[in-house]
Amino acid sequence: MSRTLSGGARVAGVVGAPVRHSLSPLIHNAWIEGLGLDAVYAPFCPPETGFEAFIQGLRGGAIAGLNVTLPFKEQALSLADAPTPAAQAAGAANLLLFEPDGTLRADNTDGAGLLAAFAGQAPGFDPAAAPVVILGAGGAARGAAAAFVAAGAPEVRILNRTLARAQAIAERLGPRVSPLPLDQAPAAFEDAGAVINATSAGLSGQGELDVPLAATPEGCVVMDMVYKPLITPFLAQAEAAGRRTVDGLAMLIGQAVPSFTAFFGVAPPSGIDVRALALKSLGLNERV
Ligand code: NAP
Repeated sequence: MSRTLSGGARVAGVVGAPVRHSLSPLIHNAWIEGLGLDAVYAPFCPPETGFEAFIQGLRGGAIAGLNVTLPFKEQALSLADAPTPAAQAAGAANLLLFEPDGTLRADNTDGAGLLAAFAGQAPGFDPAAAPVVILGAGGAARGAAAAFVAAGAPEVRILNRTLARAQAIAERLGPRVSPLPLDQAPAAFEDAGAVINATSAGLSGQGELDVPLAATPEGCVVMDMVYKPLITPFLAQAEAAGRRTVDGLAMLIGQAVPSFTAFFGVAPPSGIDVRALALKSLGLNERV
């Protein structure tokens, strides 16, 4: 990095445990450099039991804000004074903003990132046109379900290995969300407008999901939140069935855009290819 920071530099960052793998510093610092801002974006890894003390110590605006990743997203929401409806619906915050008067604001930009990924890689996709199927019922699935409910999806079907977790999300998000066991996938896929893998299956070394994506209608868009590998076995199966696909890296970059604007007061520059930088850092090739 060739920039020189002044004593008045604006500081933001990402907090997680671990945080070493995070691509957020790479993405945000590339945008900062592209705009020539007097600013920096740093990684923070407090001990798991020390998250609350870490956050309380930053109240008052010592830094502009933080992105929050595993395992702190739920705790981040619980510490906030002013959570947005998106953070409340997702039950988690991935963005904390420290106001000078001590107020801690919380938001969740994962849902916006997910919808931006669809808009970028599946142009014309309408989230309100047909039922959406989400596989998994962890934090990522809950955020995705909240985003699709807010975007007008007529029905959001949550299929999970452990049905009780899907039922808990449905109870929170209301009657448009239907919990189903994973073995109902063939029937749930039949009229789906989108199918999203929000499980950690497909992650390098984590096993694979056994669901028949060919049972989806031709126009269905298939998305995987996992981005390492970029083309997961799930996305490869969707492509083999002729479906349009959306990858998890597009979501990661999509959630970073509104975070950057909230931290630094300007939108990211358009001329910096952070996707290429992220792929290089992951040792991955762009899909061809
Ligand atoms: P989580 O809370 O740990 O939930 C994991 C989910 O995966 C659970 O529903 C679990 O089912 C299910 N699961 C795990 N292995 C499975 C298998 N072999 N077969 C069937 N189901 C399985 O994780 P999370 O925070 O929701 O994250 C989920 C994934 O999304 C992770 O890979 C994460 O990296 C990714 N993610 C990506 C982005 C992005 O920007 N691209 C953002 C957020 C998350 P049970 O409930 O039955 O255990």
